[in-house]
This record gives sequence, C-alpha cells and structure tokens, in this order.
Amino acid sequence: MAATGFLLRGYAQNLLDALMGMGYRCVGPQVRNGAITYDILSHASDLPWGWHDDQKPGSYRLERDGSPWGFAWANGPQGLKPLLFAPVDTLQTARRTEDGALHFEGATPHAIATAVLGVRACDLAALRLQDQHFLEGLVPDPHYAARRADLFLIAVHCTRPAVTCFCASTGDGPRAEHGFDLALGETVGGFLVTTGSAAGEDLADRLPLQAVLPKEQDALEASIAAAVAGQQRRLPSRDLRAALFAKLHHPRWEEVAARCLSCGNCTAVCPSCFCYAESEQPALDGLSSMHTRRWDSCFTQGHSAIHGTVIRSGTRERYRQWLTHKLGGWHDQYGRSGCVGCGRCITWCPVGIDITEEATSICGESHV
Ligand code: SF4
Ligand code: SF4
Repeated sequence: MAATGFLLRGYAQNLLDALMGMGYRCVGPQVRNGAITYDILSHASDLPWGWHDDQKPGSYRLERDGSPWGFAWANGPQGLKPLLFAPVDTLQTARRTEDGALHFEGATPHAIATAVLGVRACDLAALRLQDQHFLEGLVPDPHYAARRADLFLIAVHCTRPAVTCFCASTGDGPRAEHGFDLALGETVGGFLVTTGSAAGEDLADRLPLQAVLPKEQDALEASIAAAVAGQQRRLPSRDLRAALFAKLHHPRWEEVAARCLSCGNCTAVCPSCFCYAESEQPALDGLSSMHTRRWDSCFTQGHSAIHGTVIRSGTRERYRQWLTHKLGGWHDQYGRSGCVGCGRCITWCPVGIDITEEATSICGESHV
C-alpha cells in the first residue's frame, strides 16, 4: 500500500491539532500504571516515546530505551472495546412519581466525536467483529452505535510485535489493511501516511506532509515483513470449528482446568468478547432504580445460570465454552473465528495459559 505523504516526527503535534480543529476529542496511547493504555491526548509529548513492551505468557513489563520511536510496542491491555462497548452502561432508569406511578426512561446514548490514535491491525479486525455483533443484528445497540458513529481511526502498522502476538496466523496483522481513516507507518525519521477514507484525506490535507522517499517506504516494508517473520505463535488453522467440536471430551480440557483460575481476565482483555449481564440497582430511598449492563464473562458462575441452575459449574466446562465459542461457534455467528491474534489473553492470564498451545494440543498441530 503506497503512502501518500511523510510526516516528520517533530510534527506529531500538528496531527493532534488538526484533529482537534476538525472537532474531535483525541484519545491516544500513554503510559499509565505500568502499561500503555488509551487516554485523552492533547499533547503529542504524552505519547509513549522511547517505551517498548516485554510481553510473555502471564507477564507484561514496560521498558524505556531512550529511542525516538513512539509506537515500538505491540499492544496494551486495552483495545478499542472499552471506548465503544463500555464496561458499564445504564440502559434505563425507573422512578416513582409523587402520585405513586412508576415512570421508566431509557438512557439516551450520548457520544463525543472521538479520534483514536495508535490503533493496531488486530484491534481494527476486532472492531469489525464488534460492529457485526452490535450493529448488524436484529436490534442495533444504540449505545455502541452512538459511540461508533463519530469515530475517527488512526492506525499504526505494527513493526515490533510482542512474543505473544500471532495476528499473522489469523490474517489480521501486523499491517493495518483497512477499516482506518488514516494509517501511520513509523520509520527512523517519522511516519509514512496512508489515507483510508474521505475524512482521512481531509486530515492529510491539513498536515505538513512531505514527499515519500523510496528508502522510507522500503524501510517500512522491511519492518513489517520482519514483524511477520518474527511471530513465533500461531493457531493450527483459521477455522477450527469442526476440529474443536469433535474433541469435546479431550483430556486436555481437564488439564487446562487444573491451571485456570476462572478469573475472566482473558475475556476482559479480549477485544472481540461481548458478553454482558444486566442488573437492577435500586436507590436507597426506594424511589428510583437504574438498570445497567456490565461486562460479563463465560468464566463467571452467573453467566451460565438459567432458571436458578448453573449449567457450566466447573472450570473445565467454562474454558471449553470460551475456546469452542471463540474459535468454533463464531464461524456460525459471524463467518470467521473470534480471535484476531492480539495475544492479550496470553499476556494477561495470571497463570500464562496460551490459547495457541491449548488449541494446538486439542486440535493437533497438523490440522488445516
Ligand atoms: S482470544 Fe486472545 S488472542 Fe484472540 S483476540 Fe481474544 S485476547 Fe486476542
Ligand atoms: S484462562 Fe487465564 S485469564 Fe482466562 S479465566 Fe483462566 S486463569 Fe483467568
């Protein structure tokens, strides 16, 4: 994909100023509590310049090397999911009026036009899945739709994947191919800029872009090729539906259950997971209540409770549900696997359970 211009690193603030001039609130990656996470971003100096991550199963560390690079890290614990599918949303409120009647009111979705800088290819792929789930069903989700409507996405191609990444094997990275308004490819001198929408072209017109030198394009292509070649992990196939459902009694489910804490971290960090639970929260005075939805996980007891009976009472059944749905059942629902190869569930699992290892052990290395 040929870039349309080159932005010197020293002009990163111009990018934010142009976005704010277009009416966007900017959100971008920043170092927070020992991890790179998204937060409101007004100053380019707050980007994680010179930081890189060291991720392993069950381990995430940031290190500073003093380099000028701003995006030489893979991904943090947070994808785009919390920005669109909020961890907690109020769906409606109820209150008792003075005459004793009950009055119900739906919570009006409200969203600010937001530009997100630094989106990775895996998270763009997860966004497409979440769009399918929240927008293309029988009843589009108004909260998700409101936040999605005015979202401007600036992708950054991954040139330094983590050890836990395997997006090349799922076909979702490390190059951002589509779904963005603007994409940046970082090189020694700055950023190759590619537009992906009319809004992206509008932004590019506002930037002090220079002509792209062939050596910069070649350097980016070499970095992305190295990022592909460097990924060690892989899933045995992009479609494990038949293989997994044929192995529902494989002894590996018991083995992984002996290690799994059923904590749900894997589902919380997964950019494509969408399960939630709804509850009523009455006020102490008994006159009003809020109906909320909150992220849930197939690892919680309540998730499989039907009419007072917990269907998946053990960790074996819960882990099997997670893997067979994510890598199998999603093919029926959304036409592809629910895994985009971001590796977060491996890094943020407290006991380092590795989805690629488990899938390979259950389905077999040679499965195609
Ligand atoms: S299952 Fe794991 S690797 Fe796959 S998208 Fe979810 S968090 Fe990322
Ligand atoms: S696989 Fe890991 S992160 Fe997921 S529930 Fe089990 S222990 Fe927690």
